[in-house]
Amino acid sequence: MSDEHGFSTRAIHAGQEADASTGAVVPPIYQVSTYKQDGIGGFRGGYEYSRSANPTRTALEECIAALEGGSRGFAFASGLAGQDCVVRSLLVPGDHVVVPSDAYGGTYRYFNKVAKPHGIDHSIARIGDVDAVRDAIVPGRTKMVWVETPTNPLLGIADIEAIAEVAHDAGAVLVVDNTFATAYLQNPIALGADIVTHSTTKYSGGHSDVVGGAVVTAPQIRVAGLEDAEERIAFHQNSIGGVAGPFDSWLTLRGLKTLAVRMERHCDNAERVVEFLTGHDGVAQVFYPGLESHHNHAVAARQMKRFGGMVSFRMRKGEDAAVKTCAAVQLWTLGESLGGVESLIEHPARMTHASVAGTELEVPADLIRLSVGIEDVDDLIADLREALDIHG
Ligand SMILES: *Cc1c(COP(=O)(O)O)cnc(C)c1O
Repeated sequence: MSDEHGFSTRAIHAGQEADASTGAVVPPIYQVSTYKQDGIGGFRGGYEYSRSANPTRTALEECIAALEGGSRGFAFASGLAGQDCVVRSLLVPGDHVVVPSDAYGGTYRYFNKVAKPHGIDHSIARIGDVDAVRDAIVPGRTKMVWVETPTNPLLGIADIEAIAEVAHDAGAVLVVDNTFATAYLQNPIALGADIVTHSTTKYSGGHSDVVGGAVVTAPQIRVAGLEDAEERIAFHQNSIGGVAGPFDSWLTLRGLKTLAVRMERHCDNAERVVEFLTGHDGVAQVFYPGLESHHNHAVAARQMKRFGGMVSFRMRKGEDAAVKTCAAVQLWTLGESLGGVESLIEHPARMTHASVAGTELEVPADLIRLSVGIEDVDDLIADLREALDIHG
């Protein structure tokens, strides 16, 4: 598989040669912990123990690296396990990180409640504003800029190329959480990012049946002292051990095969839902990078293929109306998470982002977040309309 192959060709074939012994066209689930050695140290294919490497996980790691245009991929038990590995591999106590003012609640909780007590401090910046990121950098101490784009749940957009320059000028690596866009809609490494992370639980897996994470490193990291980021992450993945299991790896690989067709449909449906919401009286504001009124629409149009399947909106009548709308829909499932084939609805302030209440990352109480699935969009809109006509 070469870089010249198209996205779906790589998604279906990269890291997934037919099984050498049986010809199985899909990598088998190697549900195994250890491997017979042909004499001491005589490993077959390098496999020794499944925390260090497992063939099903290797297939996933090679596939995700090929999809992101990176040099190496690493698969983890969850998105947060991957993020933790990146932070602990590259930073030491005394280092400083710039984190987004709008981010996945668990990411902020990690930096605030886990990394900080271990001596890794952070500042918060509005990531849609390159100057705010530059101002948040502490010269000599900032070793990492963390970006999520689009952000969760307000669909903010960060200019990856411009922020990569700011980070590199300061001697910091740029990490991009590409969970919302996926490797299909956006490739941060091509835009200058050093490391890409994913919660593969979301679109990459795509079927709400597996929790997982991925980390991909850029082929060339030039930040002084962090050029060996790939080796450090490999070492820490094995030394900490939060790896993806064989069955989870297999499910995620299966999801990746259809990522391109699913994302096209997610985008088609989201565009129609946005059109409906912007025309409804009960809706005060719609957040979607595809809207020309979005503050960073031009940046999104430049760095993303399309604008994704996540949509948020504020209710004119406030929090109570938002809560009632979430409860009134029938086809949309009230639940956390996102990126599956089924449409989900949630109230971030009380659900996914409850952990950031009272912090700078607090989200509006009248906000509803949608993960637009791939059902028939007319059914999705009819269901939303019914709820909004009553509560909006
Ligand atoms: C869900 C999510 C995470 C965390 O991933 P888990 O797989 O739940 O650990 C990180 N970033 C974003 C943007 C997410 O949506």
